[in-house]
Amino acid sequence: MPADTTDAQAAAAGGPAASQGEPEPAVTASTTERAADDSAGPGHPGAAGSTAGGGLAGPPVALTAPSGIDRAAHHRLDEAWLAAAWSHPSTRCFVVSGGQVLIDETPDGRTELVTTPSFEAPLTEAHRYFLGTDEDGVRYFALQRDSLPGRMDQSARPAGLREAGLLLSDRDAGLMVHAVALENWQRLHRFCSRCGGRTVIAAAGHVRRCPKCGAEHYPRTDPAVIMAVTDDDDRILLGRQVHWPEGRFSTLAGFVEPGESIEAAVRREVFEEAGVIIGDVSYVASQPWPFPSSLMLGFMARATTTHTQVDGEEISEARWFSRDELTAAFASGEVLPPYGISIAARLIENWYGRPLPTRAAA
Ligand SMILES: [Zn+2]
Repeated sequence: MPADTTDAQAAAAGGPAASQGEPEPAVTASTTERAADDSAGPGHPGAAGSTAGGGLAGPPVALTAPSGIDRAAHHRLDEAWLAAAWSHPSTRCFVVSGGQVLIDETPDGRTELVTTPSFEAPLTEAHRYFLGTDEDGVRYFALQRDSLPGRMDQSARPAGLREAGLLLSDRDAGLMVHAVALENWQRLHRFCSRCGGRTVIAAAGHVRRCPKCGAEHYPRTDPAVIMAVTDDDDRILLGRQVHWPEGRFSTLAGFVEPGESIEAAVRREVFEEAGVIIGDVSYVASQPWPFPSSLMLGFMARATTTHTQVDGEEISEARWFSRDELTAAFASGEVLPPYGISIAARLIENWYGRPLPTRAAA
């Protein structure tokens, strides 16, 4: 997604947009990438799953790399185990609030998630999420609070996933994205969808239970497709959302609809938004996108037609670019290079064949 939207804007857009069938990242997003190396993988979910980036050449997709954290789901219902884990001196916790956490720079220049020993944290079981255990046996919890604690030292500062996801280690980014996704889901599912009763947290944050009717509700993930569309001349199709500023283009994207395969969703979205018919579709990689609850499924898609007709509702402009044309458009400022953590930038880059020009965050 748009790396240039703020977290607040993203959150705002994510809610309503999601219900309208347009994932935030979607078109929104701005990125893409070139899959230079077919052998690397489209169509090999195993590879994608094991290496964060899967079928994409180049660096892994943000938020997708293995975190080294064992989620240890079998402990979530074991209250005695959870209580013992919480009181163990090596257990660490961090506060998540409104999609933000505290991050800090280390003396050697890295950025890390600010965690504290759990025994120093207030015992707020009602808003405690068990996230898992690392290779050293350290257990991690997130505490959902209405606000982040005051500055813990001179340099700790709040950050959302769009910023922190680019700075944190794979372990810390994995912990953060898990916590943020749970927080978003918890926040939006306080009432039972079956009877309307107020639900309560259970399973260390991974279930909400309805005391009134007994229903159990599980975290929701909304699949969305995001695709780099290319034609027989190896040009790429990029679109501009109606509310985007001039010059901002990205890959097309959209939510998977009920009863629809993800391949069908790719074809439908591209036709709806740009009027282009898609033939072959190859999966390349996924990215958790908890704004508030999407899972972005990245594809390379081959167009069988090139005439574009935008819908005018989601997309106001759709253009084909050769690599030379896109390079020139970046250079002239006609098109703004995508940036940020979205898989969109990686998909474009995969096609482009080399790193995209960078620009300062707005
Ligand atoms: Zn109920």
